[in-house]
Amino acid sequence: MRRREFLACGTGAALSLGVPAYPVRAERALAVTRIADGVHGFAGTPALMTAANRGAICNLGFVVGRDAVAVIDSGGSVAEARALIAAIEAVTERPIRYLINTHMHPDHVFGNAAFADIGCEIIGHRNLPRALASHGDFYLANYRGAMGELMADIRIVPPSRLIDGREELDLGDRKLVLAAWRPAHTDNDLTVLDVQTGTLFAGDLCFVDHLPTLDGSLLGWIGQLDALASIGAISAIPGHGPVPSPWPEALIAQRRYFDVLTRDLRKAIAAGVPLGDAVLTAASGERSHWTLFDEYNTRNATSAFAELEWE
Ligand SMILES: [Zn+2]
Repeated sequence: MRRREFLACGTGAALSLGVPAYPVRAERALAVTRIADGVHGFAGTPALMTAANRGAICNLGFVVGRDAVAVIDSGGSVAEARALIAAIEAVTERPIRYLINTHMHPDHVFGNAAFADIGCEIIGHRNLPRALASHGDFYLANYRGAMGELMADIRIVPPSRLIDGREELDLGDRKLVLAAWRPAHTDNDLTVLDVQTGTLFAGDLCFVDHLPTLDGSLLGWIGQLDALASIGAISAIPGHGPVPSPWPEALIAQRRYFDVLTRDLRKAIAAGVPLGDAVLTAASGERSHWTLFDEYNTRNATSAFAELEWE
């Protein structure tokens, strides 16, 4: 395990010459940005998960309280998660006590084992354990090709502390408000608000620049946009997109995409256009506004069509 990591960061030659372990944490640390007092974020690459990007495609963050550090999402591999831990340790000596998962997707939870290994309590939406139990094996099998050797360390580790509704987490003179949402991006979306600085970790309830991906309920997501927008935050770390992004302005383009997608699909359904044809053109007017549009739009439209068909 160690050896593979060393090789991955290009120091394998030194290792094979018998050079003892030396501090590699600093050079391996993720490049995190200070967003506000005690709040740091990492901006993932807008891409699909691969071995080359270590699965580091979604945004991550952490909040430092007087007594403890809480981390929001663990990243797309254990290697990425360890680099995040190194970045946290470069900022503070306070104990990393909590890992909060914003939802079930591999880019957000594949690093969980690294935090379980250092004794973190893992926190998630009350539906998250069920979702990981039903999807976890598929995720592990599905990414074996793209992620290669990185998969060896990756385990599905569900949360042990579950959030239903709203709950506060006290890091010592610093309160985080955790909110569990109804089905939207997935059926297990959780947001985290750092009250002191007005920083919202929106998870994948908010995409900026990167096309939103739908794995829950389009109408559910649209129906909760006003409630999301009314969260009293100044800036947000979206699940994907610039870190930070202004709040609630970060929701504007996403809301427009959902409106266009819904309008186009309702029109097609009313005209009796079959699913296979409707999803090829739905929301095509949005293509130029988003990265990864071609990777995800047809899938979004297919999922939304099934939902809207039964209105
Ligand atoms: Zn997601």
